[in-house]
Amino acid sequence: MPESPAKNLVSDTWSQPLKPPQAVPKVADIVIIGGGIVGVSTAWFLSKQGVSVVLCEKGHIAGEQSSRNWGWVRQQGRDIRELPMMIDSMRIWQGLADEIGEDVGFTQAGCLFAAKDDKQLAVFHEWLAVARDHELDTVVLSREKLMTKVSSAAADWRGAMYTASDGHAEPHKATSAIARAAQRNGAAILVSCAVRGIETSAGKVSSVVTEHGRIRTSTVLCAAGAWSSMFCRSLDIALPQLQVRGTVTRTVPGPDVLDGCLFDERIGIRRRQDGGYTVAHGTILDHAITPSTFRHCFKFLPALRQEIKGLRLRIGRDFIDEWNTPKKWDLDKASPFEATRVLDPEPNKHVVDGIQRNLGIVFPQLKGIEIAEAWAGMVETTPDIVPIIDSPGSIPGFHVATGFSGHGFGIGPGAGKAVAAMMTGGDPGLDLRPLRLQRFFDGSPIRPQASI
Ligand SMILES: Cc1cc2nc3c(=O)[nH]c(=O)nc-3n(C[C@H](O)[C@H](O)[C@H](O)COP(=O)(O)OP(=O)(O)OC[C@H]3O[C@@H](n4cnc5c(N)ncnc54)[C@H](O)[C@@H]3O)c2cc1C
Repeated sequence: MPESPAKNLVSDTWSQPLKPPQAVPKVADIVIIGGGIVGVSTAWFLSKQGVSVVLCEKGHIAGEQSSRNWGWVRQQGRDIRELPMMIDSMRIWQGLADEIGEDVGFTQAGCLFAAKDDKQLAVFHEWLAVARDHELDTVVLSREKLMTKVSSAAADWRGAMYTASDGHAEPHKATSAIARAAQRNGAAILVSCAVRGIETSAGKVSSVVTEHGRIRTSTVLCAAGAWSSMFCRSLDIALPQLQVRGTVTRTVPGPDVLDGCLFDERIGIRRRQDGGYTVAHGTILDHAITPSTFRHCFKFLPALRQEIKGLRLRIGRDFIDEWNTPKKWDLDKASPFEATRVLDPEPNKHVVDGIQRNLGIVFPQLKGIEIAEAWAGMVETTPDIVPIIDSPGSIPGFHVATGFSGHGFGIGPGAGKAVAAMMTGGDPGLDLRPLRLQRFFDGSPIRPQASI
């Protein structure tokens, strides 16, 4: 791959040297574990209420999924269990840059799901009823109308689902900007500060143990992304979660073929602020089989059936690594979270080749365009592909917001607002019961309604 002359690499987010905190607050109303978009948005909403909040991030703010994603801020095609939160999130995105005084690269340039055949178009038509119920501006476009939104695109499209009010933002900017806004409001944002575990007193949360010392608190949020299941397991809380690796690329600036986002089973593409495109494969995800795969396999069968076409399964080193990772550890010694500061999987080279090939087929004007950067991110998913937002109950004061299943960037600010309300006894303004952890254990049917 050619060396990129571009500055401001996406990988700058997680490859800069880390400075451990000089001091860790001794006490806080709320401690948040994880500096992804969900953790920082929650910290921001709490800080606006004047709550004293400390956020601990083991690596960099947005070092994992929250800088590595495609940047889509999408309502279209979502599961109805998370759609109201996403619509609220869209309202937050609309005013975000003005409120925090920083550019986050947000624009409402629309989202297209292209269909190659009438069967796909029929599925899109069905979703229009959901859109109507939620007062969304989603429409199904004929091929002719679709062609007015893109230039020189694939010859085989029959039409598309389109939501003009959908948008995108720049992931490598947005999460850090929200973290800085929370910090300006008084939140303590600590990087290079892994949380090893929590301590309880009379069964309730009494402190959080970080690698740099204890923080006395009665309320904790686990927003630890791909690490949430492991963290919860160390507290004897079962949280079904598996990981899939998504490979992403960014091109150098190129000809204008679309303004917003477009999904086709061959590529997912969006226009970037720098004039290039963020492009991924439309369907291929890698899953490394680990002991967790076996532990959760029955709950994940419906998702597996749905995603099998694009899933590349392999077994290797990851199985042994997870097998050798302790399930519990002494809080006075280094934990597995310090051992992997940043989960930085290698991009799949075959997928990068496939992306380049497919890009030239779908948008002939972009054929041969230089790929400036390729990276991968570990998507964490739940069995029904919607998040878990809950206060599990076995440890009063402990809360989780995780499992955003490949859709958490767009919904992150809305989730942060709802989670902040949930933890402070306010009104989240939404029904969070469909997102409760117990749905995976109380006999409720596990039915994914959308894809990863
Ligand atoms: C390739 C890819 C493409 C995607 N595309 C989109 C998209 O276009 N649109 C969209 O809406 N979503 C997308 N997503 C999903 C989205 O990025 C995630 O759902 C979202 O970023 C999750 O945010 P989070 O805060 O829950 O987790 P993360 O961003 O993963 O943050 C969790 C943080 O917790 C930290 N942590 C973990 N354990 C500890 C500990 N013990 N102590 C301290 N810190 C800890 C981690 O270091 C990490 O930084 C995509 C994801 C990927 C990987």
